[in-house]
Amino acid sequence: MSETALDRFLRYARIDTQSKDDSESYPSTAKQLDLLNLLVKELRDIGAKDVTIDEHGYVMATVPSTLPKNHPASGKVPVVGFIAHVDTSPSASGENVRPQVIQAYAGGDIVLPANQAVVIRADENPALALNIGRTIVTSDGTTLLGADDKAGVAIIMTAAQTLLENPSLPHGDIRIAFTPDEEVGNGTKFFIIQQFGTVAAYTVDGDTPGELNKETFSANSAIITVHGRNIHPGTAKGIMVNSIRALADIIVRLPRDMAPETTEGYEPYIHPHQCEGEEARSTLKILLRDFETSGLKVQEEILRRIIAEVQPLHPRARIELEIRESYRNMREGLEKDSRVTANLWEATRRAGLEPRWVPIRGGTDGSRLTEKGLPTPNIFTGGQNYHGPTEWLSVDGMNSAVSTVVHLAQIWVEHPQA
Ligand SMILES: [Zn+2]
Repeated sequence: MSETALDRFLRYARIDTQSKDDSESYPSTAKQLDLLNLLVKELRDIGAKDVTIDEHGYVMATVPSTLPKNHPASGKVPVVGFIAHVDTSPSASGENVRPQVIQAYAGGDIVLPANQAVVIRADENPALALNIGRTIVTSDGTTLLGADDKAGVAIIMTAAQTLLENPSLPHGDIRIAFTPDEEVGNGTKFFIIQQFGTVAAYTVDGDTPGELNKETFSANSAIITVHGRNIHPGTAKGIMVNSIRALADIIVRLPRDMAPETTEGYEPYIHPHQCEGEEARSTLKILLRDFETSGLKVQEEILRRIIAEVQPLHPRARIELEIRESYRNMREGLEKDSRVTANLWEATRRAGLEPRWVPIRGGTDGSRLTEKGLPTPNIFTGGQNYHGPTEWLSVDGMNSAVSTVVHLAQIWVEHPQA
């Protein structure tokens, strides 16, 4: 008997794979290798070929083509790949995750057993109503669940096993990759596209069943540094330049109608997210986000204008602005080969779902891979409420994603030419 996606997910969820910001090593935490090494073994056990793990922890494998030599598409089917990340977010504990499987969910709020204060509310989770009578998985309330992205790992492993066990399903070579450190923004840092060897890839790292993503924000970060001058406050008159006051004048001028908490859909935002300061020096870190890359320039201009307005109020303070590029909307890169998204749409439909494109107000590993030349849209997993203890997973959604991946592998045989 093959394992179900749920069996696999429950095994992976119990392994602590939390990644860490500002780590000196790669992967950022060695414990991510516990799951990556397990996946190497499991891939070999199910009969995948070319199973490798490199010095950075990237796991790759091949599900070989099933096309006979005399098949008209043999040797012509583009190689495509599926990618999921093993790490979980630093924003909530991933230690001792105890998944709670709720069979035949009855509807209503779900109080988590180990912390009654943590409640998954039906009115905040409209997708819950679609799962009445169905199986869902939660944490016990003390940790996150890790469906982001162990559901994606379980989906890819189960789809791979399905393809390997059913050689009558026609498909070309399929590549698989499991990566560390996505949650700390470094998932593709050492990922070698040539080594993966595909013309397109799909991350399985979304959420609501049927939702597909081909658009992400374009993103920069801004750092404003104010240099002041410190001296004992008892003798500070006319000498001290308090950088905190200048920074505060900047912060109050940031547009409030352009904040994450006041925007949605395709609306851009400027988000101050970290602030540190003392008299001599204060810094503010800001996220700049817009679906149009050109909008990032507009946001930079807004910051420059604010600084120009505040500078004369604090003539002896020195204010610096630094802009760093983060990632770019994948839309343009995906438009170059329409098969990548068209085949995904069709596979989702064949899996029995109504596909829809939803813009991601964030980035994915696919944003970076697409920018580097590997078109990589994103597929749902069935998970919800990521990065916290109210995270939950629809098992139906996860199984639909397995079916989508299995169909997608076959659809590429029908459209071998660009
Ligand atoms: Zn994720």
